[in-house]
Amino acid sequence: MPDIAPKVPAKKLSQYRVTGEIPVPVLINWLSIAAVPLLAFFAFRSLGRGDFITSAPLILFAALMIGNLFIYIVFRHTTFQRRAFIALSTILFTYLALHPVEGGTAIIWFFAYPPIVFYISDARVGVGTCLVGFLGVALLFFSPPAKQLLDLPYSTSFRITMTAVLAFEMVTCYILDRSRRRSKLGLMAMAKEFEYAAKHDALTGLANRREALDQLDAEYERYLRSDRPFSVLLADIDLFKSVNDTYGHHVGDELIVLVADTLREQCRKIDTIARWGGEEYLVLLPETEEDEAVQIANRIREAIAKKAIIVEQHTVHCTASIGVASIKDAESIDKVLQRSDEALYRAKTLGRNRVCAHQDEKTA
Ligand code: GH3
Ligand code: MG
Ligand code: MG
Repeated sequence: MPDIAPKVPAKKLSQYRVTGEIPVPVLINWLSIAAVPLLAFFAFRSLGRGDFITSAPLILFAALMIGNLFIYIVFRHTTFQRRAFIALSTILFTYLALHPVEGGTAIIWFFAYPPIVFYISDARVGVGTCLVGFLGVALLFFSPPAKQLLDLPYSTSFRITMTAVLAFEMVTCYILDRSRRRSKLGLMAMAKEFEYAAKHDALTGLANRREALDQLDAEYERYLRSDRPFSVLLADIDLFKSVNDTYGHHVGDELIVLVADTLREQCRKIDTIARWGGEEYLVLLPETEEDEAVQIANRIREAIAKKAIIVEQHTVHCTASIGVASIKDAESIDKVLQRSDEALYRAKTLGRNRVCAHQDEKTA
């Protein structure tokens, strides 16, 4: 039976991108740019009040954000960019909490933190960072040492409300992010299934004609570059119509699958095996000269002739005829296919269950 479409993902989910989704590095760049006027605004307000101690770090953070942006533009190192951005944001929010900018109200910018962290990092990092952030805020607001060491201007009501709302926001962000990641995974799996279905034959799981043509194109390009010829086998089950007529269509289908499995057993991993038509198969043998291709074709033919299926105490055997052609003189793919088809036709007219190469003398 056909292979099931591979499950997503072999690589990290963040490395796949659904059309329309903002790539993380781009988002970080835009957030860094957006942070600059915001930080500058609060810095100038502090400066206006003569509060240089507050404004200087805000300007420094803006400069560091832009620095991170330029480092990314030059080196394109996404992990460094993400880590630096998370580290800078964490330090900035800690600063906003410890040093009550704007009379202590700037701490509410902390609410911008969870959605950003969940979007730009893995779920694990998002949860970990939010937990640490939440613990930090809780300790800052409610631990006796923090009360003694820092003289923060937050009322008890504000502390309780801020902590509760932050917890609520973090949980909400986690749930939404989980749902987003699952939807993305579902979409990627669906895309893989569609891709698989577009390239494979549903009955046998072999490549379909379209995929075979794509592989032929790719192999042809390789041949033009390397000058190493490839060969094509066209195999057709002999007198298949009589199997359908005698035992029914479903037995015919079983036979088609049996031949497909035999081809899989006999071919190399680098070969492409395709269902070319009803009971016709194409095998593309990369970097294979005609003589070797004829040998492979004969091996396949013999293996098919040994297989059988049992139908109501009857043993149903089948044979196949195979036409072989190798590329030469940079002729077109159509020409190779035409020559293999002619060879197959000759194998049929010479009595079936045989291999014919394009040259007459190479019949077997
Ligand atoms: P030859 O040796 O000359 O190839 O004779 P043949 O009977 O195999 O060739 P022919 O082209 O006359 O018959 C092919 C038959 O394959 C006709 C068609 O009904 C049948 N067929 C095509 N696709 C399928 C399929 O998916 N399942 C089944 N069971 N039969 C199919
Ligand atoms: Mg046939
Ligand atoms: Mg046929």
